[in-house]
Amino acid sequence: PYTLGAAVSDYDARRGRWLRANPGFPAFVSPGRPRVLVVTGSPPRRCGNAGGDHVLLRAFKNKADYCRVHGFDVFYSNAVLDAELSGFWTKLPILRALMLAHPETEFLWWADSDAVFTDMLFEPPWGKYAAHNLVIPGWHDKVYGAKSWLGINAGSFIIRNCQWSLDLLDAWARMGPRGPVRDAYGKVLGEALSDRPSYEADDQSALVYLLVTERGRWGHRTFLESSYSLHGYWVEIVDRYEEMRRRGRDYRAAGPGGERWPLVTHFVGCKPCGGQYASYDAEACRRGMERALNFADDQILRLYGFEHESLNTTAVRRVRNDTGGPLDADDEEVGRLLHPAFRAG
Ligand code: UDP
Ligand code: MN
Repeated sequence: PYTLGAAVSDYDARRGRWLRANPGFPAFVSPGRPRVLVVTGSPPRRCGNAGGDHVLLRAFKNKADYCRVHGFDVFYSNAVLDAELSGFWTKLPILRALMLAHPETEFLWWADSDAVFTDMLFEPPWGKYAAHNLVIPGWHDKVYGAKSWLGINAGSFIIRNCQWSLDLLDAWARMGPRGPVRDAYGKVLGEALSDRPSYEADDQSALVYLLVTERGRWGHRTFLESSYSLHGYWVEIVDRYEEMRRRGRDYRAAGPGGERWPLVTHFVGCKPCGGQYASYDAEACRRGMERALNFADDQILRLYGFEHESLNTTAVRRVRNDTGGPLDADDEEVGRLLHPAFRAG
C-alpha cells in the first residue's frame, strides 16, 4: 500500500537524543510551555476566483498576528509535496516533513487557510493535553456514538511531534492517494460512517473512520476538544461579533451556559480560493470573512491606538489620542498582548 515515506522507527528515542544534544533548542521553551509551530498553506497556483488571493493574504496576516502574540512559529506551504496527496490531503505530507525536520517543535498546529483566529489572546490549555498526542475539535458522542463524519473538524488541529503521530499520519494517508484508491475509500467511508454523502475519501472522514474502527489504537491519545472553539462554524458566529465585543472576553463566564469568544472562526464550505464547490452564498461568505478578519484585526490595531470604523469596512480610525507622554497609560489587556509574560524571561 501507499506510504508517506521511509518507515521511521524508534523515533521518540531518536528525538530524545537530538534534544539532549541540542539544549539550545528545547521542546519546552519554559515549564509547561511547548514550542509550537502553526502550519497553514494554499494551492501552488493563484486562486481561480476573483479576490481569493486577497483573502488568503489577509487570512495569513491574521495567523502571523496570532503567532507573534503567542511566540509561536509559523510555516506557510505553497507546495503539494506529494502529487498523490493533492487537495485537502496535502496537509499530511507537509506535517510529516516539518515534524521530522524540527525535532525541537513539540506541537504542530494545522490551521486551514480559511480558518481565522478570532480571539488573539486565548491560548490552548497545554497542560490539559499532557497525555494526548492529537487535539482536534470534536464530540465524543458524534464520533463514537453516531459515527458522523462531522464528529470532528480537520481544519484546525494540534499534533505532537512523536512516533505515535508519525504512525497516525501513515495510517491516515493510506486512504488519500488520488484516483482509484481515494475513490474506493470514499465508498468504504460512506458505508462505515452514518451520514456521509458518497464521494472520494476526504481527510476528515478518514480520521473519524480510524477513530471508530481502531479506537484502541488511536482513541486514547486523541483529545476531542469541545470546551472552546478550536474550530468554530462561521455561520453561527459572524453576525454576533459586535455582541461578543460588548460582553467582553470573559473566561470565567465560559463554563456551562457561559460563552467565550471563538478561538477560531472557520469558513467551512466557503472555498474562498476555490469557488467551484462552494456550499454557501458567496456574498454571505465574503461578508462573514470581512467581519471575522476585522474583529481579529481590531484586537491587534487597538494595541497601537486604532480600530476599524465598523467590522464591515476596511477603514480605520484612531481610538487613542496621540500623546507626548507614551508609556504612561496602564491598560492591562493591551499590556498582556504587547508584552506577554512568557517573553519576559
Ligand atoms: N491546502 C493546501 N494546498 C492545496 C490545497 C489545500 O495547502 O493544494 C490547504 C488549505 O489550507 C485549505 C486546506 O488545505 O484550507 C483544506 O483544504 P480544503 O480543500 O478542504 O479547503 P477549504 O475547504 O478549507 O477551503
Ligand atoms: Mn477549511
